Amino acid sequence: MAATGVRLDLDGRPIKPMTICMIGAGGFIGSHLCEKVLFETPHKILALDVYNDKIKHLLEPETQTWADRIQFHRINIKHDSRLEGLIKMADLTINLAAICTPADYNTRPLDTIYSNFIDALPVVKYCSENNKRLIHFSTCEVYGKTIGSFLPTDSPLRQDPSYYVLNENTSPCIFGSIEKQRWSYACAKQLIERLIYAEGAENGLEFTIVRPFNWIGPRMDFIPGIDGPSEGVPRVLACFSNNLLRRQPLKLVDGGQSQRTFVYIKDAIEAVLLMIENSARANGHIFNVGNPHNEVTVQQLAEMMTEVYSKVSGEPPLESPTIDVSSKEFYGEGYDDSDKRIPDMTIINRQLGWNPKTSLWDLLESTLTYQHRTYAEAVKQAISKPVAS
Ligand code: NAD
Ligand code: UDP
Repeated sequence: MAATGVRLDLDGRPIKPMTICMIGAGGFIGSHLCEKVLFETPHKILALDVYNDKIKHLLEPETQTWADRIQFHRINIKHDSRLEGLIKMADLTINLAAICTPADYNTRPLDTIYSNFIDALPVVKYCSENNKRLIHFSTCEVYGKTIGSFLPTDSPLRQDPSYYVLNENTSPCIFGSIEKQRWSYACAKQLIERLIYAEGAENGLEFTIVRPFNWIGPRMDFIPGIDGPSEGVPRVLACFSNNLLRRQPLKLVDGGQSQRTFVYIKDAIEAVLLMIENSARANGHIFNVGNPHNEVTVQQLAEMMTEVYSKVSGEPPLESPTIDVSSKEFYGEGYDDSDKRIPDMTIINRQLGWNPKTSLWDLLESTLTYQHRTYAEAVKQAISKPVAS
């Protein structure tokens, strides 16, 4: 399983084994990145997080062949003096730590801004001061709304890609007003991007910024009441999975007309590994990582997930599989939405030759098979328990 032989980068040069300080390694993306690095490369990981449930299988048992290449440090980067030392021990730091669930942006805007900007500051500073390379995880949400969304609904220009395709170097960042606290996350991410870019320009920091476009797959978020709080609201994949597991209608926020492109986590992780191992091609760049061919409205996503889940679980769909809900009711005051997110793939294609492979149907089939296998029994038991009076 571990890598053997000499690995070459895209320019045919041997890749030297490195130590990676991965902050937020215990999350959804981190868990897949840890697997990829341990199973396919000789690199070592210093895994930092407050939780490790999603990477437990990599930490135990200690007899696994990769066990000496991953070290878990339970650290909250808000206040832990060990952070700088761990960054110094590594060749590369990857920062994934964040509050990144939309339900938090308008209800916990302070935590959101602190997590995505203030807490990321020391990481950037330590990398810059110690001449360490940084790969920082931002978000496609920094683009905000498309230019096209401000055109009259019947304008033919809405069909023109230059009004909606999102390009790293040319598209503006368009957010709503301050009282629309939804944008607290996007704005904090934008400012940390600007700071990293400035550290590169003024102090020579070697950086890469990643803008994920709705990466989805196994281990994303939690199922409320099973491995997360009953009242918690995760991202759409887990919300809809939860509804399907409980045989409840899927809730379409404001009619589910917003559009998203979804990329399979395993495709996206390939792109990150290319960035890790091709520093000369990745340094100084901001990369969109998404799948422009997997675009659907949220309503279409709900319909497809209903069909796929019925196939993998063998249960017939509900007679009315979806239900409309207002954003105020679902997320509370201050919610707003991105209308459409299609990544321009020119830069990542040119620099790293990366392209996503997995269709939306296929990625939903493997993900919902995982959800069913992992949660169906626990949900059944939770539902059958009498409610305490
Ligand atoms: P996640 O919530 O699953 O992972 C984040 C991890 O960071 C969690 O394990 C959390 O415990 C950890 N963390 C948070 N604050 C911390 C702190 N103070 N100290 C230590 N650890 C801390 O989210 P994810 O989907 O894996 O996202 C990772 C990154 O990618 C985030 O920066 C997010 O903004 C960005 N992103 C992801 C997507 C996506 O499609 N999944 C989309 C846009 C942006
Ligand atoms: N959404 C929905 N029902 C849900 C959860 C989310 O209609 O149960 C919508 C949400 O309003 C947004 C889209 O699905 O338009 C994607 O939401 P997600 O939580 O994945 O985050 P985003 O893509 O907005 O960052």
